[in-house]
Amino acid sequence: MRFDIFTLFPGMFTGVFDDSILQRARDAGLIQLHLHNIRDYTHDKHHITDDYAYGGGGGMVMKPEPIFEAVETILGADPAQRPPLILTSPQGRVFNSHLARAHAQHPHLAILCGHYEGIDERVRTLVTDEISIGDYVLTGGEIPAMVLIDAIARFIPGVVGDPGAPHQDSHATGLLEYPHYTRPLEYRGMRVPDILISGHHLNVERWRRQQSLKRTLERRPDLLTNIPLTEDDKKFLQQLGWTPIPTSNL
Ligand code: SAH
Repeated sequence: MRFDIFTLFPGMFTGVFDDSILQRARDAGLIQLHLHNIRDYTHDKHHITDDYAYGGGGGMVMKPEPIFEAVETILGADPAQRPPLILTSPQGRVFNSHLARAHAQHPHLAILCGHYEGIDERVRTLVTDEISIGDYVLTGGEIPAMVLIDAIARFIPGVVGDPGAPHQDSHATGLLEYPHYTRPLEYRGMRVPDILISGHHLNVERWRRQQSLKRTLERRPDLLTNIPLTEDDKKFLQQLGWTPIPTSNL
């Protein structure tokens, strides 16, 4: 999968992309990351990419010309032939596991990082999707772009060692994931639950499912309204005090 990233600060990406799982995925040719400095698409002597806002008020706005030129040069002049272009923005739809998985189906994605007060409104005509990483405001779209790429890359087969893992993680199933343990069997008086060393696969599966349900009920009960639950799940949750919200109230 190829990612093209349009940014004023390509240097912010080194480190995140040059280490660990993302670096391994790049070496294996599973993901390709291309950084484009919007400043390279200016023509004035000072390479100006931002300007004052019409109407006044503080803060600088990213100028449209270098962004249009960068996008058209790299992705092509014909919008119908271009890959999806995501604008990182606190005004976009809020990113989640479903969006990450859906975007991982594209062979090619482009991401535009805003900075300062944001972009000139006319740039939105280039954009096919607008994504926020949460209800807070950051200084720039670079960290959100890294968040998107990291979460999307995990759904590309081969990027994470165990191909089933991303689909069982917290949020992918609609629930929070069960607790994990590794060696040693006992540490500072804390023992791994016996069931995990019982070797009884079905019991382990059942325990994990129940732990997922319990955690979700304790920490994110809102998630339980949106997912299909089996009769066993419901019975278990009811023992813990959960009451299903009648569908008429949803
Ligand atoms: N004035 C804008 C915020 C600009 S923040 C507003 O109120 O809507 C500067 C840039 O940071 C944005 O253009 C965007 O690219 C990025 N950004 C900030 N917060 C973000 C968030 N929660 N999700 C995604 N991108 C964000």
